[in-house]
Amino acid sequence: MIIVMKPGTAKDQVDHVVDRVTELGLQPHTIIGTERTVVALVGDERLVSRDLLESFPGVEKVVPILAPYKMASVEIHREPTTVAVDGFEFGGKRIGLIAGPCTVESRNMVIELAHEVKEAGAVALRGGAFKPRTSPYSFQGLAEEGLQYLAEAREATGLAVVTEVMASEQVDLVSRYADVLQIGARNMQNYDLLRAAGRQAKPVLLKRGLAATVDEWLLAAEYILKQGNPNVMLCERGVRTFEQHTRFTLSLSVVPQLKSLTHLPVLVDPSHGTGRRNLVEPMSRAAIACGADGLLIEVHDNPESAMLDGQQCITSQQFARLVESCRRVAEAVDREL
Ligand code: PEP
Ligand code: MN
Repeated sequence: MIIVMKPGTAKDQVDHVVDRVTELGLQPHTIIGTERTVVALVGDERLVSRDLLESFPGVEKVVPILAPYKMASVEIHREPTTVAVDGFEFGGKRIGLIAGPCTVESRNMVIELAHEVKEAGAVALRGGAFKPRTSPYSFQGLAEEGLQYLAEAREATGLAVVTEVMASEQVDLVSRYADVLQIGARNMQNYDLLRAAGRQAKPVLLKRGLAATVDEWLLAAEYILKQGNPNVMLCERGVRTFEQHTRFTLSLSVVPQLKSLTHLPVLVDPSHGTGRRNLVEPMSRAAIACGADGLLIEVHDNPESAMLDGQQCITSQQFARLVESCRRVAEAVDREL
């Protein structure tokens, strides 16, 4: 971290900064230039608040050198991390497709869909048993019964199960059934939940918060990593903007950007990201073209009668066609699907 003092700052203001950062455990090196003085700090700059230092008298700006997150950063861990889910490696050359309904509606529907998406090329089945709903009057998910159906679908097809956990108290239960714990957009900053997910052994799919910056998202991942769980995957699912033509704005530029900041696998959810069935396939192709390691896609056999998110679900036939067209894009960017 470099602290740039304002031109002509009095010596006692520089001394004050030097004393305070020393108390905070960093080693300051003062460089007196012809125009202005800068204080370079050696040590773990994450221990000090940049905003606080910028409020000190005489300080013009503070320039961080290190990312605020450590374990999620490529500064510490240069090689890409691969996350093994039932023998499939997310973050490797092959792109992993996770597909299934928004929510588990019944035993038959989830088992049937599991067979269909597997046949089309999915490596994992998605489906929420605990659903975060805007309205408390809306269907909240089948809870443990839904988890049991997902486990049956895994038995029947061999697909890994990805399902959402909404509270730290649910982590034990959900991790007994799931192969990957999904932490949803609305819970990206539920720090107790992040810590609890970090203390158990199953991989975690961490969705981006509706209004989260990349730094906030990577710091959320850091909470999980810091507890000892190295298997974290990030999933871009669109952010809230002024735009109304899609449900959210799918921020695909974040994919290559994340690849330069973190070693964690990056997935994209074009279903929630657009909220429109006709945009799922084109945005899936775009996600692969810009470097996504996997896709999370909502599939339903009769989207019009889906209990949740029917407007953005595609059918299994459409999913099978999507896989074929994504395969061609994957080959073009030297990936496999
Ligand atoms: C979901 O994947 O079903 C979901 C609720 O997603 P998000 O948390 O991104 O809204
Ligand atoms: Mn959904």
